[in-house]
Amino acid sequence: MNANDQIIYLDNNSSTRIDPAVHEEMMPFLTTRYGNPSSAHRFGAHVKDATKLAHERMAALLGCEPNEIVFTSGGTESDNTALHSALHVTPDRRRVVTTSVEHNAVLNYCDAAVRRGCEVMVVPVDSEGHLDLTELERAIRPDTAVVSVMWANNETGVIFPLVEIAEMCRAKRVAFHTDAVQAVGKMPINLAEQPIQFLSLSGHKLHASKGVGALYVNRHSRFHPMLIGGPQENGRRAGTDNVASIVGLGKAAELAAATIEEENSRVRALRDRFESSLLRELDDVVVNGDRETRLPNTSNLAFTGVDAQAILIKLDQEGVCCSLGSSCTTGSVQPSHVLRAMHLTNEQARSSLRFSFGRFNTETELDRVLEILPRTIRKLRQLSATPA
Ligand code: PLP
Repeated sequence: MNANDQIIYLDNNSSTRIDPAVHEEMMPFLTTRYGNPSSAHRFGAHVKDATKLAHERMAALLGCEPNEIVFTSGGTESDNTALHSALHVTPDRRRVVTTSVEHNAVLNYCDAAVRRGCEVMVVPVDSEGHLDLTELERAIRPDTAVVSVMWANNETGVIFPLVEIAEMCRAKRVAFHTDAVQAVGKMPINLAEQPIQFLSLSGHKLHASKGVGALYVNRHSRFHPMLIGGPQENGRRAGTDNVASIVGLGKAAELAAATIEEENSRVRALRDRFESSLLRELDDVVVNGDRETRLPNTSNLAFTGVDAQAILIKLDQEGVCCSLGSSCTTGSVQPSHVLRAMHLTNEQARSSLRFSFGRFNTETELDRVLEILPRTIRKLRQLSATPA
């Protein structure tokens, strides 16, 4: 399928469309402004100015200092780097505490850490997707190198009480990392007010390009880089800067800071109309995760008795894009680990789809989806009720 105009893209937690203003800002660095920002000549220095501005714009969005931003290749690298650094700077501490609903960029890193002799404590969530804070507090022992808890969940949108968790880690003198890949741009963040050592974000969730992200490293935190080589990013991430993407991410941060409030209320209204209309029109639809403490754009729905893969295929044929859960596990027959951690049965998890709204969705698109989706569910339910 090519005609982008014909698709209705409700998969913004998987990736977002590059904002035209971001694209425009990137273009010179893919064409005429190709100097290396580390070069001593003026042609390079101009490029360096552009990456410096990107640090400033990102810092303004997060409420931190520009030199606390380390640009990376994305959320995965940022997550890996934070955990790698924390384990490296405290070699006497071999314990990592995390949650059962983290992205694989954290969970699979933890599995690898276990194979290297670390101990990982995975704290459970309840059926609404909320973390058991008592259990979390109990899990943080003096031998804990780092606590890694996501800010908002990519599948359900459920938001964790980050301020409380960060305070808990500070009281216990343990480093705290948050995977804020889904939170940045969708909720206000002010790092100046929070005792967070590391925060990960990703460009392509924020209307910038794929393959770029950032790690916030608190200026008082000890840090050990994962990539070793040149002195880029103040010696914290070696490798020639991905200039065009970094510049684009800076612009995306500036746009997010300027539009966050207005955009979130618009997107929330779309999402809420979507859900209330479906719940009114169809029986046996369940919203997965706490409906209140949730990102404004995310809707994870179980269509009881219907195979989500069948729905996804039908919607795809009509040009509607949504997701079976974390896109990284799409194609695998395993039900989502997030929904399973929330005690959904395999059957409930397999009947669940994620719809994630974004900047470019419109009321007209929603009208169309609200015409297609109920019809599709009714049809699939009819088919499964018909004896073979
Ligand atoms: N963390 C979360 C919560 C995510 O949703 C994702 C991407 O889906 C990642 C990390 C990985 O980010 P990236 O695709 O930039 O590596």
